[in-house]
Amino acid sequence: MRISTALDVVGAAIDRPSARSAAIMARGRARFPGGVNSPVRAFGGVGGEPFVVARGDGARIWDVDGNEYIDYVLSWGPLVLGHAPRVVLDALTRTMKDGTSFGMPTGLEVELAERIVERMPHLEMMRFTSSGTEAAMSVARLARAVTKREHILKFEGCYHGHADSFLVRAGSGVATLGLPDSPGVPDALAKLTLTCRYNDLEAVEKIAREVPLACIMLEPIVGNGGFIEPTAEFIPGLRRIADETGALLVFDEVMTGFRIAYGGARERFDVTPDLTALGKVIGGGLPVAAYGGRRDLMSRIAPTGPVYQAGTLSGNPLAMAAGIATLSVLTRDVHDAITAQTARLVEGMRVVAATHNVPFTAGHAGSMWGFFFRAEPVRTFDDAKSSDTALFKRFFHAARRRGVSLAPSPFEAGFMSAAHGAHEIDVTLERLDAALGAAVADRE
Ligand SMILES: *Cc1c(COP(=O)(O)O)cnc(C)c1O
Repeated sequence: MRISTALDVVGAAIDRPSARSAAIMARGRARFPGGVNSPVRAFGGVGGEPFVVARGDGARIWDVDGNEYIDYVLSWGPLVLGHAPRVVLDALTRTMKDGTSFGMPTGLEVELAERIVERMPHLEMMRFTSSGTEAAMSVARLARAVTKREHILKFEGCYHGHADSFLVRAGSGVATLGLPDSPGVPDALAKLTLTCRYNDLEAVEKIAREVPLACIMLEPIVGNGGFIEPTAEFIPGLRRIADETGALLVFDEVMTGFRIAYGGARERFDVTPDLTALGKVIGGGLPVAAYGGRRDLMSRIAPTGPVYQAGTLSGNPLAMAAGIATLSVLTRDVHDAITAQTARLVEGMRVVAATHNVPFTAGHAGSMWGFFFRAEPVRTFDDAKSSDTALFKRFFHAARRRGVSLAPSPFEAGFMSAAHGAHEIDVTLERLDAALGAAVADRE
C-alpha cells in the first residue's frame, strides 16, 4: 500500500490512486442504496467517487488507498477531540471488560446526565436515545402531548433527523439532494409541519397567531443548510412569540450542543428553551443522543407519565463512557482553544478567498464553522442556495486531492477538534489556497 506523507506536500495536487476505495464502493453499491448507509456520504452533492476510510488519528484520516487527509467532517460533528482520542479509547476498553449492554440502569448514564446538566442547567431532566432522529422525534411527541396541539413549526434548511414530521423542507442530505419533501410521509402528517424562512420573525408571528402550535423547533445556529447564524432579534423573538401563543420553544442542539459555546445555545444567546435535543458531541463518536428540559414537561414521559418512548440500547454503557470521557476533557479552556483554532481557519480562508478574488462569506461559532461562495451574508436557506455551488464542487475536489477533507456538500457545516493544531491549520490553508486557485482556473 502506498502511504503518501501528505503533510509534506503542500499545495500541489497529489496523485491519488483510489483502486481500493472504488472496489469497496462497487461491492457496497450491491448491498446498500448508493453504496452508503446515510445519503450524503455518496457524494451526490459534489459528484465523483467517495473515498472509503480506513482509520483516523487526531486531526487526520486515511483512506483504504493510503491517502491522508486533514479532516473537517469529524463524523459530521461528534469528534470534538479528534479521531481516536486516547481518553475515549481507554474509557471504552475499561468499560467493555464489564459487558457491553445490560438494558438496565447503570451509574454511567447518571454520570453523563450530570455532566450535561453542569453545562446546561435548563435540562432539569433528560432521556438518552441512540440517535438525534429519535431525540427530535420524541421532543415533538412530547410537545404535542403536553400542549394538546398538533402543528409544529420548523424552518427551511433546518434538519431534525429523518422522522416523518421533519422531512418537510429539511436541510442536510435532503437539501443536498434537492428532495424537499420525502415520499412515504403521509400527507395528513406533513400538513401538520409548517415551515418558515429562517430569521423571518414576522412570518413566525403570523403563523403562530393563526395556528395553535405545539412547538417552534430550530437549530439555534443552522449547520444543516450550511452555516447560518440567527440575527440578534431572532431567538429572543421566538421565545416571546412562543410565550405569547402557548407554543413550546425547542432548540435542536444535536449539532450545536457543546460546540457553539461551552454551555450551548442558552449560554450563547441567553434564551432558555423549554425542551432541547442533543446528540453528536455527547456521544464522543458513539451512538448517543438525548432530549430534555423542564422537569414538569419531562415528567410526562413514561413511566412517570403517559407519553411513550423507549430504547433497547438507550443509555448503552460504552456509549455513555465515550460521552463522559469526551465531556470530561472538554473543559471551558479546551472549548476556548478549539474556538481560537476555528477562528484562525476561518480568518485564513477569508484571506485565501480575497487573494483569488472570489465572492465569499464565512463564519464560525465556537468550533462549528462554514462558508459560502457568495458576497452577501447568508441569512436564509434561499441565500445559501444562491451561492456559487458549482465553484464549491470544484473547490471540494481540489481540496480533497490536496489532502483536505471538507463536507461533500455546500449545505453542511464544518467542524474543528482539539487535535487540530496551528500546524494543521496552516497546512490546510496553504492547500486550500492552491485548491481555490485550481477551482477558479477550472472555470476559465
Ligand atoms: C445530525 C442531526 C440530527 C439527526 O441526528 P442523527 O443522529 O443523525 O439521527 C438532528 N438534528 C440536527 C440539528 C442534526 O445536526
